[in-house]
Amino acid sequence: LLRLEGVRKSFGDHVVLSDVDLSVEPGQCVVLIGASGSGKSTLLRCVNLLEVVDDGVITFEGRDITDPRVDGDEVRSRMGLVFQSYNLFPHLDVIGNVTLALRLVHGVDPGEARTRGLAMLERVGLAEKATARPDDLSGGQQQRVAIARALVANPRLMLLDEVTSALDPELVGEVLDLLGELKGEGVTMLLNTHEMGFARDVADQVCFLHAGRIHEQGTPEQVLGDPQQERTRGFLSRIR
Ligand code: ATP
Ligand code: MG
Repeated sequence: LLRLEGVRKSFGDHVVLSDVDLSVEPGQCVVLIGASGSGKSTLLRCVNLLEVVDDGVITFEGRDITDPRVDGDEVRSRMGLVFQSYNLFPHLDVIGNVTLALRLVHGVDPGEARTRGLAMLERVGLAEKATARPDDLSGGQQQRVAIARALVANPRLMLLDEVTSALDPELVGEVLDLLGELKGEGVTMLLNTHEMGFARDVADQVCFLHAGRIHEQGTPEQVLGDPQQERTRGFLSRIR
């Protein structure tokens, strides 16, 4: 579904990603791990075409999306992106947030958007909050709304950038549980997290990034359970 080959990205003379090779097959959950500043968010932003890569190729659904002739908005409309900060619109109610892009970007008529939005809220366990304002929800609930908003347009790939980092510890579980359920339903995900328990239990593939390079990748058993690289061992020992 997604393949990165030799991806390079610099900001000025600061090389943030180099020689990144990575692939995500349909239905897989691929987890990026690595220290702050290792390039995890930049990698997700490159996939979403929010950053232009300097070199290398990103293929999505069989098409080279780094080709400058590609319509970035069209590619983005086939991906769902969720950030650490949920970025819900405070003046809209929950269902309004979930259906806004469906109506404005995807041109779905309001009645159908509402039906799909309510079904998606049901799926994330928040059907009874449809008319609530974001401010009246807990952080975990707000993040589940943000995930529903990203999912409602049936993206082929979900990109999730540390979606639990801003949450109080007791709220992290409900969001991780939801991601685990989505994985069970076949949703394809590329995400970064510091939650190693989630990576161990849900990921098909774990990629350890250090200074913009993938130093180690493999199954969670390999990378988390039996890391071959000194740097991976060092990172894991610091965060455990
Ligand atoms: P964290 O775990 O803290 O979120 P990260 O692995 O997501 O870190 P990135 O945000 O991808 O790391 O940043 C990688 C490097 O790129 C950092 O050194 C950062 O300062 C730099 N960087 C990111 N975005 C920009 C930008 N727009 N301009 C200049 N430098 C940037
Ligand atoms: Mg980041």
